[in-house]
Amino acid sequence: MSSKSLQTEMVQAGVHSLAEMPDYVSVPKVPPIYMSSVFSFDDVPSLDAVYAKEAPGYVYSRDGNPGTDYTADMIAQTEGGECALVFSSGMAAILQSIIAFIGQGDHVVSSPVLYGGVYNYLKNEAPRFGVETTFVDFTDLAAVEAAIKPNTKVVYTETITNPLMEVFDLEAIAKIAHKHGCKFIVDNTFASGAICKPLELGADIVANSSTKFMGGHSDVTGGSVVTSPENWAPIKRGLAMYGPIMSPFDAWLMARSLRTMDMRVARHSENALKVAQFLENHPKIEKVHYPGLESSPYHALAMKMFYKGRCGGMLSADIPGGEKGASDFIKNLKHIKFVPSLASYTTSLSYPAKTSHRAYNEEELKAAGITMGTLRFSIGLEEPEDIIEEFDAALAKL
Ligand SMILES: *Cc1c(COP(=O)(O)O)cnc(C)c1O
Repeated sequence: MSSKSLQTEMVQAGVHSLAEMPDYVSVPKVPPIYMSSVFSFDDVPSLDAVYAKEAPGYVYSRDGNPGTDYTADMIAQTEGGECALVFSSGMAAILQSIIAFIGQGDHVVSSPVLYGGVYNYLKNEAPRFGVETTFVDFTDLAAVEAAIKPNTKVVYTETITNPLMEVFDLEAIAKIAHKHGCKFIVDNTFASGAICKPLELGADIVANSSTKFMGGHSDVTGGSVVTSPENWAPIKRGLAMYGPIMSPFDAWLMARSLRTMDMRVARHSENALKVAQFLENHPKIEKVHYPGLESSPYHALAMKMFYKGRCGGMLSADIPGGEKGASDFIKNLKHIKFVPSLASYTTSLSYPAKTSHRAYNEEELKAAGITMGTLRFSIGLEEPEDIIEEFDAALAKL
């Protein structure tokens, strides 16, 4: 019988078993989850060597974890970038990217139709720290350049904007940003690296809400940033300082989801195009916003910038009858649920004026082109005919 108490035995058991795996002649097919907040050292010189980057190793999971690094490397590949970071949410990834390059007295130029949380940050929160933002129509390149001031540090937009699915000329905007010494940050959430790689078009930093198409199953909240080593360092510094890290378990789920992202996004895109074409031809629908439609003012640009003609799973449409029409339409649906998020395996819909764009007042909504009848659809992986049939039935009752 051991002289130690069971309590002590259990506390001391199995500590190094995972670390010993590299000597085995077989390894787990799927990388393990390193659910460890901290790492142990045999002596002080080993710790010094890790801090000095003279030896490989981890210290503390807010500064780095093998599982989250592994997922970050996969994400860097999806965006064709050199290095990546993962975050606890898309908002954390986006805000840390912006914060890394601005300080008191600086200025940001942004497109006005953005994910509501980011708009709210730029409009209401960043000014508390002395940072002002000019919102300008990014389809007007001369206006973008004219909005840049000597203190502008960041130019910000989305690949496919939420909720009106606008597409801007990222290559031209990158050139304007760089001419004036600004960082060009692009939120690639609605597209994903399976559709567009903004870094290849000249963006300096691409951020994603990995909660959406990367995760794809509505079970992980996360964010990511892909960029060059030079831009990575200040963002990494902020991540370790503010601490919005992705948990090792969420990183593991994210890596699993990334295995099928390209296939899923291809199917989301095919289905969304079919649904958009159906809605466009429906007599009750006032307007459909989808860059995959030939009638879209953004179609040519999308075909130039996007891979394989894919335009993603997101579209929006104006339902007649304003708020009542939108509300009735939602009630008329059976399987398609009203969900204030997107990019899951099932088709869902959202009501921008009441969810993602709640922070916009009536005037701002109108200026952005969002009406009380605008519904945003996230087209899922069902058979497209089944999605269309349900929409058709719901519209018939309006
Ligand atoms: C959801 C979303 C975000 C925010 O991401 P979270 O993971 O919810 O924090 C940012 N940008 C876009 C375009 C989004 O759809």
